[in-house]
Formats: sequence, C-alpha cells, structure tokens
Amino acid sequence: MPIYAFQCKACGKRFEQLETVKQHDQHTERCPKCGSIEIEHLIIDINVQTSKKT
Ligand SMILES: [Zn+2]
Repeated sequence: MPIYAFQCKACGKRFEQLETVKQHDQHTERCPKCGSIEIEHLIIDINVQTSKKT
C-alpha cells in the first residue's frame, strides 16, 4: 500500500497518509488542519532506496 503525501494549497500544511488506490481515486483527502480539499498530491515511493541518503 503506497504512502501518499499531500500539501494543502490553502494553508501549506503538509501531511502523509496511508491509503488504498481506491481511496486515493475517490479524492477523500482533506487537510487535517483547515479541512480544505485544495491539496496537492505527492507520491512517496516506498520502494526507493534510502541507503544513499545521508
Ligand atoms: Zn490546510
């Protein structure tokens, strides 16, 4: 299950959420801070190799 990251366009709040693709497709995400649905969707690739990160 992928981790999705979002950033609210209204207040700038950034948050992450585990959800199914179906849930994601339904666009049920809301900003936990201001409740806006005007959020930018980012995808965090959980398969990315982090060993190179310092
Ligand atoms: Zn917000």
